[in-house]
Amino acid sequence: MSVLPAREARFDWSVPVAVVGAGGCGLCAGLAARQAGAEVLILERDAAPIGTTGMSTGLIPGAGTRMQRDKGIEDSPELFAEDLLAKAKHQTDADVVLALARESARTVEWLAGECGVALSLVDSFLYSGHSVKRMHGSPNRTGAELMGSLLDACTDAGADLLTDARVSHLFADADGRISGLRCVRPDGSTEDLGCEALILACCGFAGNQDMVAEYIPELRHAEFFGHPGNQGEAIRWGRELGAAIADIGSYQGHGGLAKGYGVPILWPVILEGGIQVNLEGRRFSDESIGYSEQAMEVLAQPEHVAVTVYDQRLHELMHEFNDYREAITAGAVREASTPGELAELFGLPAGALEETLAETAALTRGEASDPFGRDFTGRPELAAPWYGVRVTGALFHTQGGLRVDARARVLREDGSAFPNLFAGGGAARGVSGPSRWGYIAGNGLLTATTYGRLAGETAATLP
Ligand SMILES: Cc1cc2nc3c(=O)[nH]c(=O)nc-3n(C[C@H](O)[C@H](O)[C@H](O)COP(=O)(O)OP(=O)(O)OC[C@H]3O[C@@H](n4cnc5c(N)ncnc54)[C@H](O)[C@@H]3O)c2cc1C
Repeated sequence: MSVLPAREARFDWSVPVAVVGAGGCGLCAGLAARQAGAEVLILERDAAPIGTTGMSTGLIPGAGTRMQRDKGIEDSPELFAEDLLAKAKHQTDADVVLALARESARTVEWLAGECGVALSLVDSFLYSGHSVKRMHGSPNRTGAELMGSLLDACTDAGADLLTDARVSHLFADADGRISGLRCVRPDGSTEDLGCEALILACCGFAGNQDMVAEYIPELRHAEFFGHPGNQGEAIRWGRELGAAIADIGSYQGHGGLAKGYGVPILWPVILEGGIQVNLEGRRFSDESIGYSEQAMEVLAQPEHVAVTVYDQRLHELMHEFNDYREAITAGAVREASTPGELAELFGLPAGALEETLAETAALTRGEASDPFGRDFTGRPELAAPWYGVRVTGALFHTQGGLRVDARARVLREDGSAFPNLFAGGGAARGVSGPSRWGYIAGNGLLTATTYGRLAGETAATLP
């Protein structure tokens, strides 16, 4: 059992608000709780907090922000909620989606204003699934920058952080009131700590091979490109407490992880006109539908790989992203002056690749319709010099988790809320519906930052 009876607890010390996990959700939760006046302790299993957040591109969606208004972009929470629901095929909680969309601009402005995160609107391209440009990112578009700013803000605010502290057990009353937790230190010693409110910000189970095999068996050939500390504890504790768990098979995949280099080639390269071909030199899907579902399309190809093909214009556009610059430095990005040369670099049949590129050019000119349904019109034709990256399908993080309400309170099966238990980010059920096809860019950090902030604010004011 990883939830122990409260009566067995002998707490060494106690804090009003405890947070499990120091990723984006945990740091936002800790900051918000501290800003609301509560003493807070964030416990992190790693020696230095990185989390999935630190590996991410760090793009956070916000609908109706001042950054959007400054660029003349009209947006609203209702429009954002419609986009999220459409992508999830309405198979998620519409009330929660609207509530998150309504809070999203406040979160972005809070991060930029009160937490010192240098966020600007990403206006160089539109992510698929979003009606308008609403992603906000740090200067180099990295989650590492986001984490650095959040950690600084936590220090300034006086939110305490204990690293090398893996939470192994919770203590709870029969009615589900959490009274504390046990954490394990690297030398195997344990400490028991009391708390008046607990926020689970320890993400999902993508780093737990057994759970992935059980709940998302389709990913058996996928590479894991997420944080290994995501071991699924929130779900295990939730089950023991009788919490409702939803969308366990949902996840953020990616169809463009540079094979052998471990660097994601981000989706703007596709959305602005790039394509993917398999080892036969042929396209195999509408690549523009979404990078998450494209993971399975790539994994279904020979040797579970594809080659992302694009040109100089897109190569230059991608320089906005630190990941892409790293991919160049690592040698993952290959350049060729002709399709034949590109084919040789990747071991593709030259004739087939030339045909594919000619077909794509015809689709771009609007002379034919794509058998996969993609609309190529409105963008320049791809042209020499050519670029390519060999990629595979990857799992980034899981989206299923504890069912929460619009204030991030964890719910029981009967819909009632636990008295002092909160969850956000990858620990909570996301807004992507039950499967791989519901994830659009930003869904991860939307729930990490906004649920985190709401959980912190609410936990700080519990009676
Ligand atoms: C390459 C990549 C790019 C991405 N880009 C974006 C993007 O641009 N926009 C977007 O919205 N989403 C993006 N995502 C998804 C996004 O990063 C995640 O949804 C988000 O970071 C989850 O935040 P979190 O705080 O819930 O989890 P995490 O950031 O993973 O933090 C959880 C923390 O909890 C700790 N922990 C776990 N268990 C315990 C325990 N028992 N005790 C103590 N500590 C524990 C972990 O070590 C970790 O530090 C991306 C993901 C990847 C992999």
